[in-house]
Amino acid sequence: VARLVLVLGDQLSLGLSALAEADKSSDIIVMAEVMDEARYVPHHPKKIALVLSAMRHFAQDLREDGWQVAYTKLDDPEASKSIVGELMRRGQEHGTSTVLATQPGEWRLLEALENAPLSLKILPDDRFISSPAEFSAWAEGRKELRMEYFYREMRRKTGYLMEGDKPAGGKWNYDHDNRKRARADMLRPAPMQFTPDEITEEVLDLVEARFGNNFGALRPFWFAVTTAQAKRALDHFAKHLLPEFGDYQDAMLSDDKFLHHSVLSPYLNIGLLNPVDICTRIVEEWKAGNVPINAAEGYIRQVIGWREYVRGLYFHEGPEYTARNLLGHNRDLPPAYWGGDTGMNCLAHAVDQTRAEGYAHHIQRLMVTGNFALLAGVDPGQVHDWYLAVYVDAFEWVEAPNTIGMSQFADGGIIASKPYVSSGNYINKMSDYCAGCSYSVKEKTGEKACPFNLLYWDFLHRHRDRFAKNPRMGPIYRTWEKMNEDRKTAVLDGAARILGDLDAGRLV
Ligand code: FAD
Ligand code: SF4
Repeated sequence: VARLVLVLGDQLSLGLSALAEADKSSDIIVMAEVMDEARYVPHHPKKIALVLSAMRHFAQDLREDGWQVAYTKLDDPEASKSIVGELMRRGQEHGTSTVLATQPGEWRLLEALENAPLSLKILPDDRFISSPAEFSAWAEGRKELRMEYFYREMRRKTGYLMEGDKPAGGKWNYDHDNRKRARADMLRPAPMQFTPDEITEEVLDLVEARFGNNFGALRPFWFAVTTAQAKRALDHFAKHLLPEFGDYQDAMLSDDKFLHHSVLSPYLNIGLLNPVDICTRIVEEWKAGNVPINAAEGYIRQVIGWREYVRGLYFHEGPEYTARNLLGHNRDLPPAYWGGDTGMNCLAHAVDQTRAEGYAHHIQRLMVTGNFALLAGVDPGQVHDWYLAVYVDAFEWVEAPNTIGMSQFADGGIIASKPYVSSGNYINKMSDYCAGCSYSVKEKTGEKACPFNLLYWDFLHRHRDRFAKNPRMGPIYRTWEKMNEDRKTAVLDGAARILGDLDAGRLV
């Protein structure tokens, strides 16, 4: 008897567990472009286009490989609005209600499937180094769930950059070497770009017609949409950009959106690449002596450390994680995040490039847009919806822990041992933004003072009960206490002015 085999838009891997268990001669693969998925947050048009085009290419590969694929296009008049609706419709068509699926990366969809009147078998998603159960076993009984310790387990498990049971080079983590400021360099290669083919062009027209008003530029569209292309992008990164990835990992430059970053997260997260392919390639380059240990280790830590850790945490913490708001923040997200004018050059740059590319690198997300939202006391739920919408690589299992936990401290410090906040100094040190800003990073009080300088102290002052006893923050509180009273008052008044402006809907 035929079964339906569900393949979701972020499960585009030939090795997917549901495909491995399916029978090519009798089972029917169900793939569906549905409005509910395209619309639950106002996704960046490039993100919708990437997923739809990659799905259509994947379906074509499956058919060529002999599978029967029941594919629903977004503009199909017969289409229902949801994944479950499509499974029911296909089930009726083929006289079956048995469905094989690989676990979705989101509680919302998992619950919808589990509540559907279907005979459902959900298989684990084994495209990761570790499983949610493994993470929960690791977390059991620990007081703190620090990424660094989980990461070491993953190094031991995979053997990447290990010499016996010792880390290669003698250290587990070379982050300390990875904080150089970058210089503009016309010769730095960009991530590999691809020309849209006919399938992608058709998708671009569809997305333009349906989602043209969403925040974000659809064209030029240059993402890889097949595994073959994504592998070329990986190869290009490994040869040309990886060697200096470590050194400039935290740097930001006005005229360089990508620096040495790989821009592989969109491909990894929809299944065109898997973490083993990537890490094997990185280790090869290191073994051949082409890249230094700080670059190889820095990259591998992001993939088998951070990426695996946040996924484990997402499933460990449960469906209500995204609603957490331990600092009680409730301000609306400023219009500047949707492209409204702002005099803050760093914020304007991060948002502009997000609009153009659906991409910003980690330090822009964490220390510019994230830092400002946290200092300004923005509702973490709104911040979460924004990150989920505007980045091409945003899927809830990876986005939510990064936003709610790492960036907004709304989980009360599970991921971050202290909040990622900074004054303008940090941004000035790591970027060239401040020179072109209408505010002055050097001024600590007054109308011209960088808003980060004012809001930083205001945030610490507001939350002193929670943070003053944190051993890593004690010295900062002592600096605040030593400041003379007039200056403190000027700082707090300046912050109140900025927050008042935000509340009145005025742009900073
Ligand atoms: P590179 O700098 O080249 O890093 C290599 C790879 O490591 C990435 O491709 C990614 O797969 C992985 N990685 C690095 N850091 C992290 C991390 N903190 N968590 C998980 N994986 C990581 N990443 C997403 O994939 N999707 C998201 O929706 C997302 N939202 C974020 C929201 C906030 C507020 C913050 C602070 C970070 C977020 N990140 C997210 C993590 C990180 O910023 C991106 O993975 C990275 O910028 C992707 O670009 P890249 O491929 O050029 O990364
Ligand atoms: Fe950003 Fe402040 Fe620098 Fe302006 S002065 S770019 S607001 S850090």
